[in-house]
Amino acid sequence: MRLSRMGAVVSAAVLATSLAACGSSEKTVDKEAGAGDSAGALIGVTMPTRSSERWISDGDNLKKQLEALGYQVDLQYAEDKIPTQTQQLDNQITKGAKLLIIASIDGTAITTQLETAKSNKIPVIAYDRLIRNSPNVDYYATFDNFKVGVQQATSLLTGLKVLKADGSAGDAKGPFNIELFAGSPDDNNATFFFNGAMSVLEPKIKDGTLVVKSKQTDFKTVAILRWQAKTAQDRMENLLTSTYRGGAKVDGVLSPYDGLSIGILSALKSNGYGTAAQPWPVVTGQDAEEASVKSILRGEQYSTIYKDTRELAKTTVEMADAVLKGQTPKTNNTTDYDNGVKVVPSQLLESVIVDKSNYKKELVDSGYYTEAQLQ
Ligand code: BGC
Repeated sequence: MRLSRMGAVVSAAVLATSLAACGSSEKTVDKEAGAGDSAGALIGVTMPTRSSERWISDGDNLKKQLEALGYQVDLQYAEDKIPTQTQQLDNQITKGAKLLIIASIDGTAITTQLETAKSNKIPVIAYDRLIRNSPNVDYYATFDNFKVGVQQATSLLTGLKVLKADGSAGDAKGPFNIELFAGSPDDNNATFFFNGAMSVLEPKIKDGTLVVKSKQTDFKTVAILRWQAKTAQDRMENLLTSTYRGGAKVDGVLSPYDGLSIGILSALKSNGYGTAAQPWPVVTGQDAEEASVKSILRGEQYSTIYKDTRELAKTTVEMADAVLKGQTPKTNNTTDYDNGVKVVPSQLLESVIVDKSNYKKELVDSGYYTEAQLQ
């Protein structure tokens, strides 16, 4: 059996070489190599937007690592436009993609494409963001999103000195005025981040250490559609005028993403924050984007959550490779990511809180950035 398989592979390789020499298309070579042979297969990778650095790194890392295994890659960005992403998926299926890796914009908006993928026996891996309301999602690679929220809230409390760096109770008792922001409501992650954060903040709101002065604590009210910095900036401006006009100060802002933090910080700046008399509130973030790490080093943003996109790409590439070879990929969570139709087997990675005190160890020593990039 083994020998005959090997024989088949060798003759397919010889055939492939001779066909290539005749100038035949790669597609013919693939076909001739036999069903089930995934070598050199085309993989479709769709990312939401180039407007955030993290997705650029994700796309680059996936492409590089898949190509290193001999796959062909069609990498597409949709600039946060749902019809563009659905069209990109249609194209990839038409081009003969053998597997799709999708970081969706709206996790519920690609059901039709997934049905076509299913009928063409194309497996689908949800990348970073869960694809919802469809049975046609095979695996999910992401970070532990609830924990990301817990980390954001924990660093907010550390920044306010309610907690010490080791997690024990700090000296500050409050009450501190805080405001809450959440991510895009059509991104499943946004709810996980918010619920994780609220699991830490709610007891502190209840015991009076924290006060959400605007009283806006509901996810729907604080969510920022498509993670837009400008929307967050406008909401912060509105909060400052509506709630803080009487002289009260904002002490902390739960921000779920670096891009939003930039918008929030600029609203604060135009309202006089960031001076000796009116210091910056503690503002959190996510993704360790270059501009925000620089902001942290300047003492503006307080913290971010570092998610090593190289590792996420690596995990996903291993999954894709296993699936294409007919093996079962490694997963470490088969309970938490119910997409409304099924629980999607997931591989969750760990994230790290980064602030001024540990950026060097986490971001520079790990090779994520050079020191020079951050200056
Ligand atoms: C990702 C975050 C990112 C956000 C905005 C989420 O789905 O998990 O890392 O900050 O999208 O791009």
